[in-house]
Amino acid sequence: MKKILVANRGEIALRIMRTAHKMGIKTVAVYSDADRDAPHVRFANEAVHLGNSPSSESYLDMDKIVNAAHQTKAEGIHPGYGFLSENAAFAQLVTKNGLCFIGPKPHAIEVMGDKLAAKEAVKGYNIPMVPGIEEAITDIALAQKISKNIGFPVLIKASAGGGGKGMRVVHHLSELPEQMERAISEAKAAFGNGSVFLEKYIESPRHIEIQILADTHGNILHLFERECSIQRRHQKVVEEAPSAILTPEIRTAMGEAAVKVAKACDYVGAGTVEFLLDGDNKFYFLEMNTRLQVEHPVTELITGIDLVEQQIKIARNEKLAFSQEDLSIKGHALEVRVYAEDPMNNFLPSMGTLETYKRPVGEGIRLDDGFEEGMTIPIFYDPMLAKLITYGKDREEAIQLMIRAISDFKIKGISTTLSFGKFVCEHEAFTSGNFDTHFVKNYFTPELLHQQYGQERKIAALVGLKLFLEHNDQLRLPDYKNSNWSLNRTKR
Ligand code: ADP
Ligand code: ADP
Ligand code: MG
Repeated sequence: MKKILVANRGEIALRIMRTAHKMGIKTVAVYSDADRDAPHVRFANEAVHLGNSPSSESYLDMDKIVNAAHQTKAEGIHPGYGFLSENAAFAQLVTKNGLCFIGPKPHAIEVMGDKLAAKEAVKGYNIPMVPGIEEAITDIALAQKISKNIGFPVLIKASAGGGGKGMRVVHHLSELPEQMERAISEAKAAFGNGSVFLEKYIESPRHIEIQILADTHGNILHLFERECSIQRRHQKVVEEAPSAILTPEIRTAMGEAAVKVAKACDYVGAGTVEFLLDGDNKFYFLEMNTRLQVEHPVTELITGIDLVEQQIKIARNEKLAFSQEDLSIKGHALEVRVYAEDPMNNFLPSMGTLETYKRPVGEGIRLDDGFEEGMTIPIFYDPMLAKLITYGKDREEAIQLMIRAISDFKIKGISTTLSFGKFVCEHEAFTSGNFDTHFVKNYFTPELLHQQYGQERKIAALVGLKLFLEHNDQLRLPDYKNSNWSLNRTKR
C-alpha cells in the first residue's frame, strides 16, 4: 500500500495520516464545505472535496468516497471512528471496488454493530453477560413480565445504538410502557432500526474495555485495559490505562474473554471489547467496537505500540510481529476529551470561534487535535476538539501532568470540558481510584466548578499581593517579562 485515503476529519484524520507518513505511505484527505481550510486537508498529500457540509452529503456518502479513492489512485481506505467506520456495507463496497478496507471484514462489523447479534455470536464462548433478554421486544406486557424477572432498575437499550445514545433506565414497573414507546421511536429516528431490548441495569459499574489486535493468520492478542468510567450521557470524557483497580488476575481473565469475543466473529484488525465491572469484581460483556477507538492513545503510551501502524500492517496481511508474552504495561496514561461543551450548563454544545487556542507542550504531554486558532467549530459534526493525553511513570505523575497541561491549554471563544477534566483530576474519588460510571451524577455540580474558579481567582489575587509585598518598591506584571511596562512606586 503506497497511498491511502482517510475517510474522516478532525483529530483522527490527522492522527492516521501522521502514522501513514511515518510508514512512507502517501495520504489523501476528503473534506466537506465546512472543512475546506481544515488542518487535515492541508496535512494530506492530496485532498478531494466531497460536497456540502452535512455528513450525509460528505463524510457519509460512500460512493463519493470510493470515487475519490479511484480518482487519486489510493489503494486503501482508513475509516477512522464514527462516520462509516462501523458500516458493513461500506467495507463491502470498498472491497468490491478492488480497494483495501483498513478494518475488519464486513461480517464482523455487521455482527458486532448490533448489540443483540453480538450477544448471540459470543453465546457459545462462555463470556459473562449482563442478565437480560436476547431478542428485540415490542410487546409491553411481555416487557413488564421480563423486567420483573430481571429486577428493577432495568435498562432499555437500542440494539443499533452507539456513542452513548439509545438508552433509558427504568426504575419502576409503571414507567415501563411509556419509556419503551419512547425508546423504540427514538431508536428508529436515530439509528433507522427500532429494535430495543432489556438488560439488568448494573447500579455502580466501572466501564473497562480491552484493546485487541488480530491478524489474518489467526493470531489474536490483547493490549490490556482502558478505564473509561468517567462519562457524561453514557459517553466517555476521561480515560486511563491501566485501570487503578484491576488485579493481574482480572486483567488476564478479561483479556482472555476479549480474545474469545474476537474469535467469535472472526475478527481481523484493531478492535475493542467493552465490559462492565461490578462492585464484586464480576465483569460482563457489553459490546465490541469494530474500529479504532477514540481513547486508543492511552493504550499506545503504556504498550509502546502504534495501533494505526498495526491496523495498516494487518490490512497488508502481515503477521503480528510480537506475541502476548512480549507485551507489558509500562507507566500510566490519562486522556481528557476536550469537547466544545459547557460543563457549567449541563454539557450542552458550545459553538463558536477559537479566539485563543494555545497548546500545552512538554515531556509526557501528547495532544491529538484538529483545530487551530481562529477556526470556527462546525455545527455539523461531533463536538470533540482535541484529546489531551499525559503519560507518567505512575498514575500520580500522569494526573499531576494532566492538571498542569490543562492549565497551560488556553482556549477562549468557546467553553470546553477542560475545566471538568481538571475537576476530575483533583477530586478525591478519582485520585483514590474509588469511582464508577456515576462520577458526574455523584460528585459534579456547576457550583463546585464555579467555586474552583473562585478559588483560583483568590489564589491568583494572593500570589499577586505576595509579589507586590516582596517587591515593595516595584509593582511588576509578572507575565510581561519583555515589556518595559513597570511602575516604579518611588518615581510616582
Ligand atoms: P469510543 O466508543 O471510541 O470510546 P464514542 O462512544 O464517543 O467513543 O464514539 C466514537 C465516535 O463515534 C463519536 O464521534 C460518536 O459520536 C460516534 N458514534 C459511535 N457510534 C455511533 C452511532 N451509532 N451513531 C452516531 N454516532 C456514533
Ligand atoms: P454505546 O454503544 O452507546 O457505547 P454501551 O453498551 O457501550 O453503549 O454502553 C455505554 C455506557 O452506558 C456504558 O459505559 C455504561 O456507562 C452504560 N451502560 C450500558 N449498559 C449498562 C448496564 N447494563 N448497566 C449499567 N450501565 C450501563
Ligand atoms: Mg460502548
